[in-house]
Amino acid sequence: MNILVLNCGSSSLKYQLINMDDEKVLAKGLCERIGINGSLLTHQKIGEEKFTIKQPMPTHNEAVKLVFDVLVDKDHGVIKSSDEIDAIGHRVLHGGTKFTESIVVDEKVKETIKECFDLGPLHNPANLMGIVACEKNVPGKKNVAVFDTTFGMGMEEKAFLYAIPYEYYEKYGIRRYGFHGTSHKYVSGEAIKFSKLDPKNAKVIVCHLGNGASISASIGGRCVDTSMGLTPLEGLIMGTRSGDIDPSIIQYICNKENKSVDEVLNILNKKSGILGLSNGLSSDFRDIENAMNEGNHRAKVAMDAYIHVIVKYIGGYIAIMNGVDAICFTAGVGENDKYTRKVICDNFTYIGLKLDDKLNDIRGEFREISASDSKVKVLLLPTNEELAIARETLRLM
Ligand code: ADP
Repeated sequence: MNILVLNCGSSSLKYQLINMDDEKVLAKGLCERIGINGSLLTHQKIGEEKFTIKQPMPTHNEAVKLVFDVLVDKDHGVIKSSDEIDAIGHRVLHGGTKFTESIVVDEKVKETIKECFDLGPLHNPANLMGIVACEKNVPGKKNVAVFDTTFGMGMEEKAFLYAIPYEYYEKYGIRRYGFHGTSHKYVSGEAIKFSKLDPKNAKVIVCHLGNGASISASIGGRCVDTSMGLTPLEGLIMGTRSGDIDPSIIQYICNKENKSVDEVLNILNKKSGILGLSNGLSSDFRDIENAMNEGNHRAKVAMDAYIHVIVKYIGGYIAIMNGVDAICFTAGVGENDKYTRKVICDNFTYIGLKLDDKLNDIRGEFREISASDSKVKVLLLPTNEELAIARETLRLM
C-alpha cells in the first residue's frame, strides 16, 4: 500500500512516496520555483544520490505531472506505474471552522477549501491547485486533505475565542486555530506511546521550534491550547515573525512611518522575530547563537527574549493543565539545539524536571533526555509531518 504525500507551497511542492506496510519512504523530492524562471525538481530514490531536472513548471499542474513522471522513470523511479499509488494525502494549511478532521476530497470539500482562501491566502490556493492537478493527472485516485488547523479545533471556547465582539467569530470565523497541527498531533501521540503514558489523560506540551515556531498543550491527545492564532503570526518569537505584540503597535507604526496596515503586517511577518531583535543580523538561530557566543549583545538579547517567551508559555500551559507529564522538543531548533533545550528546562526544576546533560548532547534523534528521576519526561522527538499525513490518508481509505 503506497501513499503519496504532497505539500504545495506558493512556488514549491514537496513530496514523499511512503510504503505504508512498513512506513518506509521510497522516494522524496522538491519542485522549486514553480511559476518562476528556472524551475527545477530535486528527486531522491531512497538509498541513492539526489538528482535534479531543470524544466519549466509554469503552474502546479506541470509540477505534479513531473512528479508522477519521475516516480515511474525507469532509472530514478520506484514504481512501474501510477496504479501502484493507492491514495494521495495533501497538506492543506487552513480548514477554517468547517473542517474539524481530515477528509476525503470531493467537489464540496474543494469549494470549502476555496472559501478559506482569505484565511490562508498564500497556502490554500496552492494546496487546492495540487489537489486539482492530481485529479487531472491521475484521475480516480482518492485524495485526502489533511489540515494544519484541525488539531487546534479540539480546543474549548475559552481557549479559542478572542475577547473581541462575538459577532466577528460568528460572521468571519475569527478565532484561534493554531498551526503546525499535524506536527503537534504526531509528536504528542508518539510521546504518549513511547513513554507509555495514559492515552486518555496524559498531559503533554510540544515545543515545535523551527523558523516558524509554536507550542501546544494537550490532554489525552486533545488540544487544550496552542500559541498560533487566526494566522501563524501569534505566539512565540520566531525567525522573522514577531509573535505576540500589543495590537496598538500596528497603528502606531502606521502613523509614525506613514505605512499601510499591510506594510506593517509584512514587517511583523518577515522582518521581526530574532531578525528584528538582533537588529537585522540574521533570522537563522545558528547565526544568532554564534554571534552571541562571540559577545554580540543584540544577538544575546534576541536569544534570551526567544527563550523567555517559550518559558512563559510552558509555565502557562502547566498551570492550565494543572501539571505536565511530558515536554517534547521538535523541528529545526528543538531537534538540533541543546543550548535552547537546556536553558528552557532549567526554568522548570521547581516542578522536579531534571534534564540529563549527557543525554541532551544530541541532535535529531528520538530520545528521552530527562534524568531517570525527573518528575517530568523530556523528549527530543523529531517531527514527521509527511508520515502523519500518510497515516491520516490511510485511516480514511
Ligand atoms: P521551518 O520548517 O519553519 O522552515 P525548520 O524546522 O526547518 O523550520 O527549522 C529551521 C531553523 O532551525 C533555522 O532557523 C535553523 O537555524 C535552526 N537550526 C537548525 N540547526 C540548528 C542548530 N544546530 N542550532 C540552532 N538552530 C538550528
